[in-house]
Amino acid sequence: MPRVRTHLVTWDEIVEWSMNLARIIRENGYKPELVVAVSRGGFVPARLICDFLGVENLASIQSQHWTEAAKAEERAILKYPFKLDASGMRVLVVDDIVDTGETLRLARDYIRDNWSPLEVKTAALQWISPVAKYKPDYYYLEVKEWIWFQYPWTRLEDTYQFIKRMMSETYKETGKKEWSYKEIIDGFKEWYGIDVGDMYYREALRILLEKGIVKYDPGRDKYLLKV
Ligand code: AMP
Repeated sequence: MPRVRTHLVTWDEIVEWSMNLARIIRENGYKPELVVAVSRGGFVPARLICDFLGVENLASIQSQHWTEAAKAEERAILKYPFKLDASGMRVLVVDDIVDTGETLRLARDYIRDNWSPLEVKTAALQWISPVAKYKPDYYYLEVKEWIWFQYPWTRLEDTYQFIKRMMSETYKETGKKEWSYKEIIDGFKEWYGIDVGDMYYREALRILLEKGIVKYDPGRDKYLLKV
């Protein structure tokens, strides 16, 4: 049993899910003139939705989770709250997944209140129904049990963070600081239940070295967690 339930999402799945999401929107009769990608996760789905619905206008807004200093709870913030004149336009705001829903709801509210659109609707490839405080107007997959979706566009970021987490938690539990490349790969597969492939493991280790989180000992061919 992996420690963190993770599903490795392939590019093919993204195309299939986006095409199905576009079909649901089309069948519902909604015809957006402007698609807005919620950056960064909504970029690829939004571009595909434009392709599948034949929409030429694509904008983006960056909404993301922010942990307030000294506060346990998280809230979403808009990074670049710019204004765009969308008067007379039907807008579709697209993200990859609705987890708590804060990110998509904030983007939707901001666009509705500041861009003067005719109408705003929201869409996501996936909606985690038991935890989400917000339900998008359109979604393709309802996720009934929380799981981490390892999307292709965050593969490197997730991989190095996952390796870092595995190494530091193992150190806390057992005092182990030294890892061979093979131990890292085997550990990763066991912890997360997925295999991202050699190219990503190598790149992730390069980043961990660059960030000074691990050190490489060429003599012993081992990666050392800096503690
Ligand atoms: P939310 O909690 O709905 O505000 O989610 C914010 C963003 O975090 C989403 O748009 C995703 O990019 C990312 N995210 C949240 N939960 C997950 C998950 N379970 N799997 C993958 N990405 C996630």
